[in-house]
Amino acid sequence: MPDAPRPVYGIIGYPVAQSLSPAMHNAAFKELGVDAIYKLFPLKEEDLDGFFGELHDPSSPIGGLNVTTPYKEKAVSYLDSMTPLTQRILAVNTIVITRERRLVGYNTDAPGFLSHLVDLGFNTRDKKIAVLGAGGSARAILGVLCMIPERPESIKIYNRSRERLNALVSDLATRMDTGIIEPAMSIDDLDIPGADLLINTTSVGLRGDDPCLIDEGLLHPSLLVYDLIYNPAETEFLKMARRRGARAANGLGMLYYQGVLALQHWVNIQLDDRIKRVMRQALEEGLHS
Ligand code: NDP
Repeated sequence: MPDAPRPVYGIIGYPVAQSLSPAMHNAAFKELGVDAIYKLFPLKEEDLDGFFGELHDPSSPIGGLNVTTPYKEKAVSYLDSMTPLTQRILAVNTIVITRERRLVGYNTDAPGFLSHLVDLGFNTRDKKIAVLGAGGSARAILGVLCMIPERPESIKIYNRSRERLNALVSDLATRMDTGIIEPAMSIDDLDIPGADLLINTTSVGLRGDDPCLIDEGLLHPSLLVYDLIYNPAETEFLKMARRRGARAANGLGMLYYQGVLALQHWVNIQLDDRIKRVMRQALEEGLHS
């Protein structure tokens, strides 16, 4: 009998070149002694049907995927089943492909984000939160913030496309209590001077020469400024935050926590502290190399 092909995992998105997930997962596979490889899959929208179609082929070596910008919402339509959290959020960032070649969707971004907030010592209860962006990652963050017991006082959210923002808020409202969400007509309506936490969930900042969406003067020392982007490690948004005396965090911690959960789903074991350390270290090294 021919040898089974080496299992392949990877991340789909566009762009994906900046992703540190290969460094994190390949280091973990090596440490676990798992003969598998994690790759980048840069896919254009027109390639998605073909790519997902081939995943059902019994000869496909792909055992699991991460999904990043801009496909976290779109990828839901290719799933055979999903966890209750994913069902409520309707954005997927981790896919497990079973032996029967069924695609099972998980959202590990949402718990990953919350775990990083805990590390940062930020409790969301009764806080005023401002969010930039209404894409797949905003969906996960907004959804989970509406569901947790540590309920924020308010979540004001602004997006370039009003249509997409309104669609997101009205869709989430069909599956959870979104009473704390206030769609903002403009950045001024976010009331950043009165906020405790400001989160950038847009992809603006991925390129080093990207402008910043907000005026520096709105930032203040009692604000935690969180950018989901982790590569570059310090976007213009975070540089501005530091200049204004605000606490600033990039999304590396979120990436780490969501990655630990994703890997646990793929290999079906609880990772011990040694493997987690290796993953964290691979991320730090990848970012500074
Ligand atoms: P999506 O493609 O789903 O959404 C992109 C968002 O960015 C939309 O709100 C879009 O607005 C906005 N946007 C894009 N370009 C502009 C622009 N020029 N001006 C204003 N707004 C703009 O992406 P995701 O939500 O999946 O991901 C967003 C970012 O978060 C990515 O950089 C991704 O790498 C990062 N991320 C990091 C994670 C981590 O673990 N640290 C986890 C998840 C995401 P519009 O609707 O108007 O187009």
